[in-house]
Order: sequence, then C-alpha cells, then structure tokens
Amino acid sequence: MLLYNLLAGMFFHVVVISNCGVSMSRVFLAGLIVMLGQCLPLAAMAKPQILASIKPLALIAQEVVGDNAHIETLLPTTASPHDYPLKMSDHRHLRDADLVLWVGPELESFLARSLANIPPAKVMATYDLPDLHWPENTVESDGHQHANHQHTGGDPHLWLDPRNAQVIARALAARMIAIDPQSARVYQANAERFIARIQQLDLQLNQQLAPIKSKGFAVYHEGYSHFVSRYGLHQVGYVTYAPERRPGARHLRELHEVLKQEGKCLFVEPYYQVESIEAMAKAIGLRIGTLDPIGDQQVSSYQQLLEKLGQSFLACLTNLAG
Ligand SMILES: [Zn+2]
Repeated sequence: MLLYNLLAGMFFHVVVISNCGVSMSRVFLAGLIVMLGQCLPLAAMAKPQILASIKPLALIAQEVVGDNAHIETLLPTTASPHDYPLKMSDHRHLRDADLVLWVGPELESFLARSLANIPPAKVMATYDLPDLHWPENTVESDGHQHANHQHTGGDPHLWLDPRNAQVIARALAARMIAIDPQSARVYQANAERFIARIQQLDLQLNQQLAPIKSKGFAVYHEGYSHFVSRYGLHQVGYVTYAPERRPGARHLRELHEVLKQEGKCLFVEPYYQVESIEAMAKAIGLRIGTLDPIGDQQVSSYQQLLEKLGQSFLACLTNLAG
C-alpha cells in the first residue's frame, strides 16, 4: 500500500513537471515540494544494491560508494571463503543485487554455479581485472620451487596487496558509474580519496615491516603471498596449501625441518584449530601468532584490515631472543 502511494506520487510528480513548464504557480510549487517529500523514500529504496562475497571486498566497496549504495556481505565473518554452503536466502540476495562483487572461482568456488545464471553485467570478478599485481613465484629457501600450485594465475587472496585494492576501487567506481550515472562524481571522488590514503598506508607498512624482513615464519594456509611479497617478508613455509586440504605427513616433516632452521614464528588463523601443529612449533621454540586475512567484527575499514595484519607480523617477529 505504501509503495503504491509512493509510486502514484512519483507518477503524478512527473506529470506535473512535464505539464507546468516554466509558468509554475506557487500552488504547484507547494504541491511539488510535498510530492518530492513523498518521493524521497522511494529514492532511498532505489539505491543500488551491492553484494560482496567476502568482507575485504565489502570494505573496499564501502569506500567507493559511501552512502550512495547499499552493501551487503554474503559470508559471515566467521566463515572461510574456501568452503561455504549457500543458503536459500543467499540465492535470493544474489539475484536481487545490482552488482555482485567477488574474487572469482579461484577463491569462492561455491559461488561459481549460482553466478553462472546471473547476467555478466551484474557481476564483477576481481581476479580477472587487468593491472593487478601478482607475487613472483615463491622459491623456498632450499631452492626447490613449488610448481604444483593450483592457482596458475596466483594466490587469489589478492586484496592483501594494497595496490590491488586500488585497482579494485578504480574498477568498481567505473562499474558504479555505469549503474548509477547520477552519482558519477561521488564515486570518482571517493575512489580517488581512498587510493591516496591506501598509497600512504602502503608506504607506512613498508617502513614498519622493514626491520623484520629477514625473520622466518610459516603461515597456516598459503593465502598471504600478496602481502608477503609486497613487503619482502621471509615466509619459509605453510601448514596447508588450502584450508580444506589436509597436509601430508611428508609436507609436515619438511615444514618442521625448515622451521627448526629458520623459523621464528608460526601464524595460525582464527577459523581453524591446529593444536598439534602449534605444539610442534612450540617444541622447537617458535612463537605463535595469528593472522586474519578477512577481518573480524572489530575491523571496520580496509585500512584497519591491513594495519592489523601488519601489527600481527610485527608482534610475532619483533624482539626475538637470539
Ligand atoms: Zn584463503
């Protein structure tokens, strides 16, 4: 009923404008103001809807769209993007969104099937963006190269390089301008402001992390190469390539060896329990740190997400004995 009234008001408003021309009387003007007031809720309802698959993308989108669009995040912050069962309501959200923002099948494989039914104009895969930065192939300190990495293009956790966040922001602004041309200037200005801030953050992280560049560490899953490579950190291994895969005994033996020689810290993740690995790391004198590539509830901006990550590295790899 309310919606009907609003639509009627809107329709009438359009008719009034087209009929009254320049000789608009005061009565008309007063009526128009009342009707505009009626139309405002409709305008608010008509804000473009963006559905981001994961929180880091939602945080970047937030910077670009400001109040001009609604953003929802598909995955709860407690879920791993590597395996997430879509609910019925998720399917509805996917269909209703004006734009679905995701990394790509390389990360959120559970989304690929549903997104195949959505018009490409309503989907933006960040993994395919030109101008992204990819880490060089990691060569382990023992000289043997990990050639069997599944993502030939590279580690899909691409938002962990702040230069990629800038690429995403720029591309998203362009998409939003196509969807909502009236707010073009806002999207453009927001993206530029965000990019300037992130360039600053990039410099700052580079300086902060410089003193720990030679300190060896292992991560829980191979999802940090963008950050590690951007700041020249010394990752010597990982527990598992992807969280849904169990590491083999031989891999763990090798990890144990390399950590014994070069390791200072083992980073676990908030989503996974790895008590046996932690015990192994402690037994050889390693510190235990935590890395969160997605950002928990306390993280409210992309900048904070990266700052927290930097702080986690610093906390575990600074003031080491010996
Ligand atoms: Zn991951």
